[in-house]
Amino acid sequence: MKKWILWLSMTASACQEKPTQTNDTATAKIAIENSDPHTYARPHLAIVKHLDLALKVDFATQKLQGKAVWTIENVSKGNEIIFDVNGISIEKITTGEEETPAKFTTDSANEFMGAPLKISILPETKRISIYYSTSPDATAVQWLTPKQTAGKKHPFLFTQSQSILARTWVPCQDGPGIRFTYNARIQVPKELLALMSAENPQQKNDSGIYHFKQTHPIPSYLLALSVGDLAFKSIDSRTGVYAEPSIVAKAAWEFADMGRMADAAEKIYIPYRWGRYDVLVLPPSFPFGGMENPNLTFATPTLIAGDRSLVSVIAHELAHSWTGNLVTNATWNDMWLNEGFTTYFERRIVEAVYGEKEMQMQEVLGRETLNGQIKEFGATSRDTKLKGDYAGRNPDDAISEIPYEKGYSFLRTIEAATGRENFDAFMKKYLSENAFQSKTSEEFLEALTSDLLKNDSELVKKIEIKSWVYEPGLPTNAPPVAAPAFKTIDSLIGIWSDGGSITGMAKRISSANERLYFLGHLPATTTAEKMTAIDNEFNFTSSNNAELQCDWYTLSVRHQYKPAYPGIEAFLKSVGRRKFLMPIYKEMKKTPDGLQWAKKIFAEAKEGYHPLAVQSVGALLAE
Ligand SMILES: [Zn+2]
Repeated sequence: MKKWILWLSMTASACQEKPTQTNDTATAKIAIENSDPHTYARPHLAIVKHLDLALKVDFATQKLQGKAVWTIENVSKGNEIIFDVNGISIEKITTGEEETPAKFTTDSANEFMGAPLKISILPETKRISIYYSTSPDATAVQWLTPKQTAGKKHPFLFTQSQSILARTWVPCQDGPGIRFTYNARIQVPKELLALMSAENPQQKNDSGIYHFKQTHPIPSYLLALSVGDLAFKSIDSRTGVYAEPSIVAKAAWEFADMGRMADAAEKIYIPYRWGRYDVLVLPPSFPFGGMENPNLTFATPTLIAGDRSLVSVIAHELAHSWTGNLVTNATWNDMWLNEGFTTYFERRIVEAVYGEKEMQMQEVLGRETLNGQIKEFGATSRDTKLKGDYAGRNPDDAISEIPYEKGYSFLRTIEAATGRENFDAFMKKYLSENAFQSKTSEEFLEALTSDLLKNDSELVKKIEIKSWVYEPGLPTNAPPVAAPAFKTIDSLIGIWSDGGSITGMAKRISSANERLYFLGHLPATTTAEKMTAIDNEFNFTSSNNAELQCDWYTLSVRHQYKPAYPGIEAFLKSVGRRKFLMPIYKEMKKTPDGLQWAKKIFAEAKEGYHPLAVQSVGALLAE
């Protein structure tokens, strides 16, 4: 904390130093990059432009070893460039083609920020080679044992760099406002395939050496690597799926609409700029839903429901190819620019591919989640503002429903006030003009006010921009949401609560979203007897849809519906996604018997969980 304050004052004074060079885009970006509280880098003085990465993946020691060669621009012609590192062992650093040894220092590391790596350079330095290895504890790098994979024969590795974890596996200027292109050479055991957030191979080779190229400038949080026994299956000319061989066919069937979604997205906004779009399905222990790594979304296998009912997560990750990866939030305090826009664009894609009815249901479920989140934080909490305030805190704390669902509702408010056609035209222009750049909330609002609202003060007032972006809670002009399908469910629940029959209801409440709404709106007084009737009608205990399983199993624990217990144990032992583990364990913890049961299951299941999930569940049960 103290170190943090020190850093802030350092940045403030650096801000007043005048770079000698005047006509570079880097100069114009000073304000943006200096306002990022989560990187030690001072990109207005010296900034990275391109990375040549060469790494050897060693499963035995759980280390990545090699070098990061950075092409830099010494904007200020000063004598230092600063990178972010966290837990990386540096062997040596050189400058220039001739590899002259360079002086460098690292300060002691802050808990989540890591440390600044300060390298001495000359005014003309263009190239820096950092020879290093990662620690087995590198937070971004997850080493899975064969047991944690579907195939059980080979180890597996994947990285997760967002928000500020790239610095645990690559020394970099680790802020979303700083972009670079990259090439990589990755050496892996011969029986495994390596993939990155770049142009990817579609099959293994005999050398175990793979080359990658990302020709578009990306921020460091989109650096990604995965290594495993992986196979590829094409979906159409530009989309496909990578997964372990035993799941690749199932995954390709589940995500068959990816191409249609990409087509729909291009029709709404502008052409896809990245070349191929593929999805990598990770082993069951992946603790997240999905990560929008460019060219290659990383996804949880819990999306494979067998009925294509959870593909809106793919629509979300695909949408990030425009909102997030193409035009990026400049700092993590502006995260709603990534996630609010992507939630909005995701639902536009869903509407285009699956219809308005489906989109409306997602919108209602989203608003309910938002209201729940605001209630949890408190309506006056600073963490309910769209423009976040995470200086001095881990930016991962910013990942709540607020940037997603409040951001979504704000964009719907703008759309309602200006008309969809006008809003779409504005967004097309905004995305084209700002492609491969990073933007602050203020820069977006400036474009919105002048371009779309034409500085019409009435319209600005009507939308209540300031209140949406800088005030806590949900503004009163949030557009109402409603799904006719859910109204029917409300009345069916009412009839049933008053003693009516449940028979035939499964036919009327048939889609996954309708069923999620149904489970979320069951009366608190539901008895084990009523749970039996519901299960007889809907067969929730034997569902393959992880979202439904999670909600049903949580209710089963709450209402002590014992026939579901074996299913609950099996679920907790096979799924590692925290979104599903936490609610069930939390519910179990509410009674002494439940807590004992939870501890027993956790002891047996944890070997298969991701370390982050072990940490979360372990802390929950130990409280
Ligand atoms: Zn997202």
